[in-house]
Amino acid sequence: MSRFFRSRYSNLIPYTPGEQPRNMEYIKLNTNESPFPPGESVVRAMEKAASRANLYNDPECTSLRRKAAELYGTGADNITCTNGSDEILYLAFSAFFDEAAFPDITYGFYKVYADVLGIKADIKPLREDFTIDVSDYTGIGKGIVIANPNAQTGIALPKSDIERIVASNQDSVVIVDEAYIDFGGESCVDLTKKYPNLLVTQTFSKSRSLAGARIGFGIGNEQLIADINTLRYSMNPYNVNTATQWAAEAAIEDNESYMANCAVIVENREYTSSRLRKLGFDVLPSSSNFIFAKSDRLDGGYIYEELKKKGVLVRHFTDERMKDHIRVTIGTREQMDIFIGKVEQLL
Ligand code: PMP
Repeated sequence: MSRFFRSRYSNLIPYTPGEQPRNMEYIKLNTNESPFPPGESVVRAMEKAASRANLYNDPECTSLRRKAAELYGTGADNITCTNGSDEILYLAFSAFFDEAAFPDITYGFYKVYADVLGIKADIKPLREDFTIDVSDYTGIGKGIVIANPNAQTGIALPKSDIERIVASNQDSVVIVDEAYIDFGGESCVDLTKKYPNLLVTQTFSKSRSLAGARIGFGIGNEQLIADINTLRYSMNPYNVNTATQWAAEAAIEDNESYMANCAVIVENREYTSSRLRKLGFDVLPSSSNFIFAKSDRLDGGYIYEELKKKGVLVRHFTDERMKDHIRVTIGTREQMDIFIGKVEQLL
């Protein structure tokens, strides 16, 4: 640390992204990306955008928001576009939270955003079975962020439970992070019309093969979106580059293909879960594009290390409640067969 770093950041522990190794080709099941490359139309859109790189991009993402509004069944003014959904989450935390409640096991960035922004974190432990206790969040009168399906566990809350949380906290903002919603679970986007305190975030990183292009969305009441845009324009209005805007538009136009890919992932998830269970694993019921599983024989850290040596990357978290588990992104059937084969060798 330099002597110039502001003292308020001296204890800040930044987010640790999943490994993105460049040294060798792994079967990469560690960061919940899609195994399917983007379609032809997306590639063409990005190539076309390259020749316009001398010009600034549209800071309002006008055309993209119009298409996204059709996709989500909202108005264009109910949407703001960001550089991945990490950015909409950061902006929303900044705009709306003094204090924020979220589960102990969830997306690690929530705690980091709370820390960097000086927001008090009210961390609510998940139950023993890794489910959220809805009563922890009803009528608490503070900011709330819930990933649905939840990160790391993959478990989804029914929409009726989310509505109870939103309805009972109408004087504070509830963020529902739907990064994995296209693999199961019920979206709460339509509830944003009923509840002006609900902000839903989505991303094209997982279900639409655009993790590296960085495109996320905030969806909510016009005034919430306007507040977020006030901050966005106070920071970086050109946050979504032209190639990404055009790529995202092309992805929406080709939505059916991406939803078909999601259906394949869901099939592969059920296949992988069932094979792991036969090998003695406890696999949580996932509604997302990853599974969270624990062996009855092998330690999570050991499985992670040994699979890595064999060229398969999964994610391992060292926190007390997660250290026995591994998180495995669902890839193609071929990738999952290789993964299972390597696990069998370890056993
Ligand atoms: N929310 C959750 C729950 C996630 O797991 C992730 C991916 N790491 C994100 C948001 C952010 O994704 P992105 O910034 O790629 O949209």
